[in-house]
Amino acid sequence: MPAPVRFVPFLWGIDGPLGSESVAATLEAAQGDITREAVDAIVNAANSGLARGGGVCGAIFSAAGPELDAACAELGGCPTGDAKATPGFRLPARWIIHAVGPVWHGGDSGEPELLASAYRRSLAVADEIGASSVAFPAISTGIYGYPLDAATHVAVRACRDAETSVDLIRFVCFDDRTLAAYEGELAD
Ligand code: ADP
Repeated sequence: MPAPVRFVPFLWGIDGPLGSESVAATLEAAQGDITREAVDAIVNAANSGLARGGGVCGAIFSAAGPELDAACAELGGCPTGDAKATPGFRLPARWIIHAVGPVWHGGDSGEPELLASAYRRSLAVADEIGASSVAFPAISTGIYGYPLDAATHVAVRACRDAETSVDLIRFVCFDDRTLAAYEGELAD
């Protein structure tokens, strides 16, 4: 597996580098299967019903076990652009943050803002549950049809700009094309 590509922002205060209390998250991209990530929380590219679906969602439900269906049913769905947490059950990750990205309808239906919101809300939920390492899939770029390069730009921008206590954000890319998109975006 190739080494992750890292982006570590360097923060400056008025008089110089900021102290450790202000350290920003490290962003990295790696190829792999998100169900195997041993981070505090993995993010699911969920549907608004928080139901077992296809793609990465189906893989997460299969790996987490049937307890996840019951936990999601109790949450009563989730609006597009928002996120909610459940335990990780049989996953190595302690938590699953279910984030609902937009379906791509051509780009004039608020898709960029809704996608950015799904990333921001995921990190806010991570802060609430005390998760300091979070792995994201490429939300909306599969079945939901969001163009990969545009989605990658939104994802990286939203995570770089987020005010969060999360210190590691890993973009887990399932295929070469997605990894190349993230490597390009993180290098900018
Ligand atoms: P959406 O419905 O939000 O588009 P998909 O699951 O269809 O979600 O696709 C989102 C991304 O997740 C795609 O890049 C897809 O290749 C990827 N993906 C599918 N399975 C996995 C997995 N096990 N781990 C990480 N990413 C995955």
